[in-house]
Amino acid sequence: MKLLKEKIQSEGKVLSDQVLKVDSFLNHQIDPVLMVEIGKEFAKRFEAEQITKVLTIESSGIAPGLMAALELKVPVVFARKRKSLTLIDDLLTAEVHSFTKNETNQISVSRKYIGKNDHVLIIDDFLANGQAALALAEIVNEAGAKVSGMGIVIEKSFQPGGDLLREKGFKIESLARIASLAGGVSFVEEMEVVR
Ligand code: 5GP
Repeated sequence: MKLLKEKIQSEGKVLSDQVLKVDSFLNHQIDPVLMVEIGKEFAKRFEAEQITKVLTIESSGIAPGLMAALELKVPVVFARKRKSLTLIDDLLTAEVHSFTKNETNQISVSRKYIGKNDHVLIIDDFLANGQAALALAEIVNEAGAKVSGMGIVIEKSFQPGGDLLREKGFKIESLARIASLAGGVSFVEEMEVVR
């Protein structure tokens, strides 16, 4: 997705060979115009899948997840990373090891909001080792629903998550695929060093 790649080129900060910081438009401050376009792109890529629900994880998945859900005209549910006092329903849970924080959290979703007839589109901001996406897929499976696809804003293709999830048979659509962060951002398609 050209607009997203341009944004990564102009505003992304390479923190290490492994980590890209994009908190001027995705992870802290959010660019709403870009988010609308991201939502349209996800909706286009998954229009054949008869999605009934978008599932994401707090907090950075919520903006792209909401915009995809708006375009697909379905509800969005976000998994919580911390127990909420008001989340007293029967819960679907999974363990997820965080790539950036190096800690394991239990994530949870109320059983009320994913049912066995749902065709779920999982959305997340980054794909690194695939642990967040796998935990969300586990929650969908626990609900007896179907994972109809996974939409990722930024995939770091040099890390193992993308291959892992594709080998498991998930339909993955990533809007920007990064081949390397060593010495700057290189995208998969053009292998063009921009920073
Ligand atoms: P995974 O579970 O695939 O290993 O990592 C995905 C999660 O880690 C995403 O939800 C995202 O929040 C975070 N993450 C992974 N890599 C990066 C990165 O390079 N930059 C930022 N900002 N977050 C990342």
